[in-house]
Amino acid sequence: MKKLILLLTISSAICIFLNAKSKPNILFIFSDDHGLRTIGAYNPQFKGTPNIDRIADSGAVFTRSYCENSICQPSRAAVLTGKVSAHHGVVKNGAHWDNKQQIFTRLIKKAGYQTAMIGKWHMHPLPSDEFDYHKTLTANAGQGRYYNPAFVEHDGSIKIEEGYSTDVIASESIEWMKNADKEKPFMMMCQFKAPHTNVMPPIRNLHMYKDEDVFMPETYFDNYQGRNPYVAKSWMKMHGMKSSNVVKISPPIGEYQLPTNAKGPERNFKGDFKYLAEMNPEQRKKWHEHYDPENEDYRARVASGELTGNNLFKYRYQRYMKDYLRVVSAIDQNVGRLLDFLDASGLAENTIVIYSSDQGFFLGEHGWSDKRLMYEESFQMPFVIKWPNQIKPGSRINHMIQNIDYAPTFLDIAGLKIPSDMQGRSLLPLLRNEPVEDWRDSVYYHYYHNGAYNLPKIEGARTDRYKLIRYYDHKTLNYGEQWELFDLKKDPQEMSSVFDDPEYSIVRNKMEKELIALRTQYGIQ
Ligand code: CA
Repeated sequence: MKKLILLLTISSAICIFLNAKSKPNILFIFSDDHGLRTIGAYNPQFKGTPNIDRIADSGAVFTRSYCENSICQPSRAAVLTGKVSAHHGVVKNGAHWDNKQQIFTRLIKKAGYQTAMIGKWHMHPLPSDEFDYHKTLTANAGQGRYYNPAFVEHDGSIKIEEGYSTDVIASESIEWMKNADKEKPFMMMCQFKAPHTNVMPPIRNLHMYKDEDVFMPETYFDNYQGRNPYVAKSWMKMHGMKSSNVVKISPPIGEYQLPTNAKGPERNFKGDFKYLAEMNPEQRKKWHEHYDPENEDYRARVASGELTGNNLFKYRYQRYMKDYLRVVSAIDQNVGRLLDFLDASGLAENTIVIYSSDQGFFLGEHGWSDKRLMYEESFQMPFVIKWPNQIKPGSRINHMIQNIDYAPTFLDIAGLKIPSDMQGRSLLPLLRNEPVEDWRDSVYYHYYHNGAYNLPKIEGARTDRYKLIRYYDHKTLNYGEQWELFDLKKDPQEMSSVFDDPEYSIVRNKMEKELIALRTQYGIQ
C-alpha cells in the first residue's frame, strides 16, 4: 500500500513537473508613453522599429487596444489586477497601491511560474512579494533616470548601474532569464522607463534624424474649436515644454553650474540641468559634442528673429521629436537584443513575447505632448504578441481590447481559472482565431487625476464607430460638466464634436445608454 501511495505521489509530481515545464514562458516588454504612430506595426510609413515589428510579423497586432485610464500608475495596476481604476484603487499617480490585493503574478505561481519585474514600477509602495524577483527604478519620484539609473534591489539596497536605462533593464532581464530555473516556466516583466519625458537618447543614437525634418501632424496648430472648452486650457502643449530638461537647450559645456544637491544613495538630482548631472563626465562630453552646435545655432536664429511664433513652435517640435525617436530606437534595439537572446538560447520556441506600453501619447497631435485625454492617440496602447505555433504570423486582430485583459490572459495561458472579480477577459480565443460571438462592443474609460495639466476628470465610452466623452470636476475652471461625441468614421482626428448636432441625437442617446451600461458593468459609483 505504501509503495502504491509512493508511486502515485511520484507520478503526480512528475505530471505537475511536466505540465509546468511545457507551459510557455512569457516575456512582457512594457514601455512608457509610446505613441502608436512611432511603431512600424501600427504605421507602415515609420521604419524606426524593425524589432518590435519582428514580434508583430511573426505574431499578431491588436489594432484596437486601449487603456482604461491614460496615465502611468493606474495602467500598471490595471495590468496586474485585471480591474479598472475604481477597483484596483490606483485611480491616479501618487495613489496608494494596495499590495495585498489579488494580482496575476501571485496567482500564476500556482501553475509553477517563476516571476520577475525589472525596471519601472512607479507605484507606491515599492514591490514587496508581488514577484519572486524585482529590481526597481528609483529616483525622480519613481520614474528613474535615463543615464546611470539607480535601482532598488530585491533585498532593498540601492545600486547605481552605470549605463543607459533601457540597455541596463534589457541586460538585467536577459541575465534573469538566463539564470531562471530551467524546470519552471517564467513570467518576465521587462519595464522600460523610455520613451517617457524627458526623452534622453543614448549617445549612440544622437546622430539619427540629424539632417531631416520629422513628419509633423496636420493638427499641430489646432485651435480647439469644435471641442469642449477644457481641452483648450490644458497645459499639455508641446511648445510649452521646458526648454532645459525637455527640449535640451543648455549653455555650452563648462558654462553652467551642475546641480550639486544629489540626494540620498539614489543620487536624486534637482534643478534645471539635472539631466546633465545624471551623466558621467565622458557621457556629458559626448552629449555636448552633439547638442552644443545645435544650441548655438538655435541661439543665433533666435537672435536674428528667425525663430518666433509658429517657426519657434515648429522648431521645438523637431527638437523634441528627434530625441523621442532616438529614444524609441533604443527601445527597439533592446527589443532586438531580447529576441536574439531567446533565439540563441533556444527559449524562443516556447516563449510568448509581448510588446506594449502603459498608454499611447500625443506626439504633436492637437499641439500636445502628453496623454490623459480619451482621444485616440493617448487612449490607445500598442499590443503586439508572438507565440510560435499558436498565433498565425501576420495576424491583425480588430476586436477592442484593454489593459484589464492582460491578467486574465496570462492566467488562461498558464491553464488557471480566471477569478470572477477580474473585469477583463482572456485574449486566448482571439489569438487562436476562434469565433467569439459575445466579445465586448464597447470600452470604458475613466481618468481621475484632475488638477494635473489643468484638466478635469474624464469619463467615456467608445464603440466601433462612436466615442462619447464626459468632462467633469475641474479644480478651478467653472465650465461645469461638458460632453463630446465623435463620429470616428467621419472625423478620425476628433476635431469636431457632434454632441449638439440634432442629426446625431439617436446616436447620442444610444451612447449615453452605453456609458450607463458600462458603469453598471464595471461597478462604478
Ligand atoms: Ca506612461
